[in-house]
Amino acid sequence: MHSFDLYHLDKQQLARLSKEELFAAYQLLYREVLASREAAAITARLVVAQIAKVEEANQSLELANEELRKLTNLDGLTGIANRRYHEDKLHREWRRCQRTNSSLAAIMIDIDQFKKFNDHYGHVAGDQCLREVATALQKGMRRVSDSLARYGGEEFICLLPDCSAEAAYKVAELFHQRIDQLKIPHATSQVAPILTVSQGVAAMVPSRDSKASELIRQADQALYHAKMLGRNRVVIYDATGPHLEGQYGNDSN
Ligand code: GH3
Ligand code: MG
Ligand code: MG
Repeated sequence: MHSFDLYHLDKQQLARLSKEELFAAYQLLYREVLASREAAAITARLVVAQIAKVEEANQSLELANEELRKLTNLDGLTGIANRRYHEDKLHREWRRCQRTNSSLAAIMIDIDQFKKFNDHYGHVAGDQCLREVATALQKGMRRVSDSLARYGGEEFICLLPDCSAEAAYKVAELFHQRIDQLKIPHATSQVAPILTVSQGVAAMVPSRDSKASELIRQADQALYHAKMLGRNRVVIYDATGPHLEGQYGNDSN
C-alpha cells in the first residue's frame, strides 16, 4: 500500500486496516516526512547560494559603476578630470561656499599659440605636450581641496575653495614655474622660444543671487586680458579692466 492512500481512507476503512498494514503505512509516511525535510534543507542551501551570488553580482556591479563614474569624469587624453567633473565640482563648491560665506577662486589656463605648436610639431607631439602640461599643473596644486580639469582643447581650469584672488594668483605663479621648468621648445611661438601659458584668475564669495557661471566668466575675461596684454602672464579679474601685473619672460608680442 502507498502512504498516499492513507489520505483517502475514511474512518471505517482505517479501522479495518491490520496492525501490519498500519505499521507499513506509518513507515511510508515517516520516509516521506524525512524526504521532504531533506528537500527543504537542499532548497534552503540553494536559496543561500543564490543570495550569495546576487550579492556578489551586486558588488561587481557597484565596482563597475564606480569605474564608470571615474571614467566618465576623466579626460581620455591627459588622465586628469574632465569638463563634466569640473561642472559638478563647481556647483558643489559654489553651494558650499555660499553656506560658509567663503571665497571660491578659479584659474583659467590656456596654452599660448598652441595652434602654431601643432602646425610645426604635429598633432601627436601636441597631444604629448597637453599631457605634460596637465601633469605639471597637477604638481603645482597645493591643497587637496583644489581641483584641476581639462576645460577643453588646450584650456585647463583650477578651482580653489576657500581661496582669495590673491592666494589663487600665487598658485597661478606656481603653475607658471612648473610650465617653465618643462622647457618644451616652441620654435614658432611669438611669445617665447618655449611653451608658455596665459592665466586668468577670479574669486567670489557667492551671494544668494549670484551664479557660479559668473565666476567662470570673470576668470575667462581675465584670461582674455592676459592674451591681449601679450600672453605668458597671469591677470586677476578686475571689473574696471585689465590688471597690469604678472608678466613673465619675453614680452615682444
Ligand atoms: P592663443 O595663444 O590665442 O590661445 O592661440 P592658440 O593657437 O593656442 O589658440 P587657438 O584657439 O587658435 O587654437 C587652439 C589649438 O589647440 C587648436 C588645436 O590645434 C589645438 N588643440 C585643441 N585640442 C587639441 C588636442 O586635443 N590635441 C592637440 N594636439 N591639439 C589640440
Ligand atoms: Mg584656447
Ligand atoms: Mg591657446
